[in-house]
This record gives sequence, C-alpha cells and structure tokens, in this order.
Amino acid sequence: NDVTYEVNASRIDSAGVVIASFQDVTHVAAAGQMRRDFVANVSHELRTPLTALTGFIETLQGPARDDTAARDRFLDIMSKEAGRMNRLVGDLLSLSRVEAEERVRPTELCDLTAILGTTIRNLNPLAVEADVRLRPDLPDAAVTLIGDTDQLLQVFTNLIENAIKYGGSGKNVHISLAQHDRIDALRAPGVVVSVRDEGPGIDAQHLPRLTERFYRADSHRSRALGGTGLGLAIVKHILNRHRGRLRVSSTVGEGTEFKVLLPIG
Ligand code: ADP
Repeated sequence: NDVTYEVNASRIDSAGVVIASFQDVTHVAAAGQMRRDFVANVSHELRTPLTALTGFIETLQGPARDDTAARDRFLDIMSKEAGRMNRLVGDLLSLSRVEAEERVRPTELCDLTAILGTTIRNLNPLAVEADVRLRPDLPDAAVTLIGDTDQLLQVFTNLIENAIKYGGSGKNVHISLAQHDRIDALRAPGVVVSVRDEGPGIDAQHLPRLTERFYRADSHRSRALGGTGLGLAIVKHILNRHRGRLRVSSTVGEGTEFKVLLPIG
C-alpha cells in the first residue's frame, strides 16, 4: 500500500498573548523535556564511537602492540569511528545553525534548476561508488524563488544522499523539478522537487516521525551506512524557514519518494 504523509506540519507562531499563557507553560515544560532527551541522545551517540576508540587504543597500547596485521585493521576501524563522530558534530552544528535562522526571512534570489544541477554533480561520485544511477528530469530554464541557496543545496543533498544510501546498488534515483500555478497545500504558486528511489521502502508506521532528531526507521541500516539520524530534521527546519513542506510516500519493496513543496512569491 502506498502511504503518503505530511512530515512537516509544524508551524511558526508568534508569541502568545495573556490568554495563551496556560498553553505557553505546557509548551515550556515539553520543550524542557525535549531538550533533556536531545542531550541524552547526543551523549549516547557520541559515547558509542568514543568507547570503540578507547578500546582499540588500549588494545594497541597493550596486547596488540607488536601485531602489525591487527594494528592496520584496528586503525581502519578507528578511522571510521572518528569519521562517524566528525559527521555527527558537523550535523549538530548544521542543526543548531538552521534552528537559529528558522525565523529569519531568506533574501537571496535562488535558481532551483542550478542548485539541483550542482547537488547532482556533487553527489555523482557517491552514486558511482554505490552503483546507483542519478536520473534527473530538470527544466532547461532557471526556476527562481527567494530563499537561501546554501540551505536549499543542503535540503536536496540530504534527500538525494539518502536515496543513494538506502536505494541500493544497481538501482536508479529519479530527481525532478516542476512548477505549478497553484499548490493547494501552500495556497500559493510553487515548485515541487521530487526525489524518488527504488529501494526497500519505509514501513508506514515510521513515516510520521522521520523528521524527528535521531529517529531512524531502520536503525541498523542507518548506522551501518554512517547515518547520523539528523539529516531529515535539518531538512525540516530549512523548509520551515522557506514556508515549504516535506511529503513522503513509500511502498515497501518498491521505493520511496520525498517531495519538497516550495512557494514562489
Ligand atoms: P540518517 O542519517 O539515519 O539517514 P535521516 O534523518 O536522513 O537520518 O533519515 C531518517 C531515517 O529515515 C533513516 O535512518 C532511514 O531509516 C529513513 N530514510 C530516509 N530516507 C530514506 C530512503 N530514501 N529510503 C529508506 N529509508 C529512508
């Protein structure tokens, strides 16, 4: 069954007036709990590679001191674990930056055709390495809107990178961009960018939670592929800033399609 979910329903509201004070308190308590959960999650995610690194360092200092074969193998693992920590810290910094900027109106004139072209060029080596073919269907002309070029590049990078990672070898990733006079969900004219893979799909129960920080539909696979669990959370905040939406539809065994809806004007 094909299931579609709006995974970006949160709205930015201005501060409440006196009458809303009860709700505001509930909000603050929930925000406090979320912050504590987040700190606990970050600590756990950092501790895992750190524990592995400490263990291998001790082994190299002691029992494996003179074992050159083991040393090379351990150094390889240590380098991967350090890379994992590096990506996590990088994504945490991105997340905190996009959260801080969420309420700041973007001001650049962005060309989505060019941004998607750049994203695809940047990710082509990764696709080749994973034996995945990127199949773009883009207009020849520029498609412009007011936004933040670097952030939109980040959105498309995260979605296409996921499609490559989870899509699987020998498969295609289809990327398209279309302009519409009206997008009902946005009550405005806009563009739809679609990133569709032919991977294993995502079970319906996970779809509503995909943009939560550290939420993983398939935790084992995400970790094996070096995922941080923060990519779609970053996407969500950037789209909030652009008054856009993220939709996902997936059929288990057939593939997943993420759609970015962005208003123009
Ligand atoms: P991660 O770093 O784990 O990939 P994301 O926030 O980018 O984190 O994605 C959250 C989760 O959504 C992933 O862990 C994965 O389970 C699932 N997911 C995202 N994109 C896809 C996709 N194209 N196909 C299958 N699962 C996906």
